[in-house]
Amino acid sequence: MAECVLIDGKARAEALRSSVAEQVARLKAEHGVQPGLAVVLVGDDAASQVYVRSKGEQSLAIGMHSVTHRLAADTTQDALIALVENLNQDPAIHGVLVQLPLPPHLDAGAVLARLNPDKDVDGLTVASAGRLASGLEALTPCTPLGCLILLREALGGLSGLNALVLGRSVLVGRPVAALLLAENCTVTIAHSRSRNLPALCGSADILVAAVGRPEMVRSSWIKPGAAVIDVGINRVPFRDPEQAALGRTRLVGDVAFKEARGVAGWLTPVPGGVGPMTVACLLQNTLTAARRQAGLDRDGQ
Ligand code: NDP
Repeated sequence: MAECVLIDGKARAEALRSSVAEQVARLKAEHGVQPGLAVVLVGDDAASQVYVRSKGEQSLAIGMHSVTHRLAADTTQDALIALVENLNQDPAIHGVLVQLPLPPHLDAGAVLARLNPDKDVDGLTVASAGRLASGLEALTPCTPLGCLILLREALGGLSGLNALVLGRSVLVGRPVAALLLAENCTVTIAHSRSRNLPALCGSADILVAAVGRPEMVRSSWIKPGAAVIDVGINRVPFRDPEQAALGRTRLVGDVAFKEARGVAGWLTPVPGGVGPMTVACLLQNTLTAARRQAGLDRDGQ
């Protein structure tokens, strides 16, 4: 059997960023439109701070207008909604992202419901999800879009392939399944109540794992030669007991990487696979939103 190809998400994300940067420059030069992204962070969650900083830096680096609103942890629902509604009206802002999770006293669903779906660059409003599920043009959640781009590049056409999506979250599993269906895959969605996961996975030409369970997918579950996209990001203790005792951790995916490599045809590593694609796809979505709001045809992707 041919050797497994490791899919380099870092390199693909870099290429996507360059392509978006070129299109941003062209949009400015030819139409006087500078795509604008607003990121809203409520509170001081450490991981969210890192993600938000990265989104701000990366959007600026490719020539976008970029604004970050940092709100106190005790911000009220009304104040947050007022900000979202202001951003809906701001012509310099084409994409708005409310960083999740919000502090527990805030209702993310109610906030997202007030976001203009045309500016929903995270693809998380019910309107965006409904459009995607209905096969209509939609802004698509970033991580699922990243998975699709990696699969298209690895396999070329996806039409007619059997795809198994492990996980049914609104953020990952469901939109990945909708995107694969739109590519004419035969899609099965599995979840915690599914029976006989190994057999379901074993008939899949494409396996997308998004469960949040460290190394749950074993090599014996994988159809030889399948394309395996590992969305999972799990922090586990070091194998070395001394290091583990020091509290040191490492990242692993939902797929047992070392064994899977012996069976899969294509495989994303963790880290360095799907992860880097997420922010690159946010930039792509912001460009797409800006072009649509300017009345221009869809481009890129
Ligand atoms: P959720 O916890 O929202 O969803 C997990 C899904 O997996 C659920 O549908 C759940 O089923 C299913 N599941 C859980 N345990 C099992 C099991 N034992 N067998 C079968 N199915 C199971 O997670 P997310 O979708 O948000 O994220 C999934 C993973 O992807 C996480 O590791 C997360 O960190 C990572 N992630 C990575 C991103 C990136 O940029 N690379 C971005 C977003 C997420 P049920 O619905 O029945 O409960």
